[in-house]
Amino acid sequence: MIYLDYQATTPLAPEARDAMLHWLDGPAGTGFGNPHSPHRYGREAAAAVELARDRVAALFPPGGRVIFTASATEALNIAIRGCAPVIAGQGIAVSAIEHAAVWDTAQALANPFHEIAVDAQGLVDGSGPLPAGTGLVAVMQVNNEIGTVQPVAEIARAAKAAGALFVCDAVQAAGKMALPLADCIAISAHKLHGPKGIGALWIRDGLELAPLVTGGGQEGGLRSGTLSPALCAGFGAAAKLATERMEADREHVEALWNRAIELFDGWILNGSATARWHGNLNLRRDWLDVARLMSDVRDVAFSAGSACASGSGKPSRVLRAIGLSDKDSKTSIRLGFGRYTGMDDLERAAAAIIAAAGTQG
Ligand code: PLP
Repeated sequence: MIYLDYQATTPLAPEARDAMLHWLDGPAGTGFGNPHSPHRYGREAAAAVELARDRVAALFPPGGRVIFTASATEALNIAIRGCAPVIAGQGIAVSAIEHAAVWDTAQALANPFHEIAVDAQGLVDGSGPLPAGTGLVAVMQVNNEIGTVQPVAEIARAAKAAGALFVCDAVQAAGKMALPLADCIAISAHKLHGPKGIGALWIRDGLELAPLVTGGGQEGGLRSGTLSPALCAGFGAAAKLATERMEADREHVEALWNRAIELFDGWILNGSATARWHGNLNLRRDWLDVARLMSDVRDVAFSAGSACASGSGKPSRVLRAIGLSDKDSKTSIRLGFGRYTGMDDLERAAAAIIAAAGTQG
């Protein structure tokens, strides 16, 4: 089986797994302590959590604090819902291609909702004016379906100039590129070779959010609940590795992308080829029956549209936003590759997909 679904999740790095094991100890060990306990077990666990926090913080810009959450979805909810009292009744403007974690959360609030359009390349115009009365802007750094990289630094400056807060979903960017100076930034461990079940929210110094989850007051009172030292340690190890390997991983992904583009000659690329994370190849062929292709190519794990949307039968909101008809968006597949994808894996997977597609065209 060849795994080409790196936007859905990434394989756990062996280093992250190793870092977690001690914190999964049973009664014979010392690694099961509650990091919020004052005795030795607790202090050791707390030290591991703080080391992990420093390693995760190194992925973000300076000038903020990091809290651990259960996922990026939770981090984005804390950010957006936590900002709502700060922006009072002002509007929330989000790009048309945001993940549901942002889109649905912004829509659930009573504040006026504005959609920021993207062009046919899947890009927000960073120099475009913000809708009048905007108090909060949310634009993702790298899109999960089509990989496009948004001009987030420019958008952050525009938001600041307009007196609005800027929330950035950097889930698909973290560990791959520098993250922008924003008011809040959300990331997820499992997208950068860490474990599932843990995310992080970076909050600019000086910004006070209203907590969503109340209780024991952990994570500066913003996210009560006992932290998992194992998940934190795994996230920290994955973050450290991503920081150290950022350039090497990028070069590897570039080599895979260049080969993939050659192999899929004649297919149409959805979204910009240049303002894009090259570990995301979202392609279509006019006549492709994606459901049939997926059932014919069972030895390759890939996706139709986003992982969340595939299987739902609903056309992708992102592909619709770049101007594709519902019919065209249903002829699209997403291949995602990265650190642990070998060139031979990519070539074998491409051969299987192209051969199966060839029986349809
Ligand atoms: N934002 C983006 C861009 C994503 O790709 C995902 C996961 O698919 C999320 C948010 C949600 O992340 P999590 O799985 O940690 O809730």
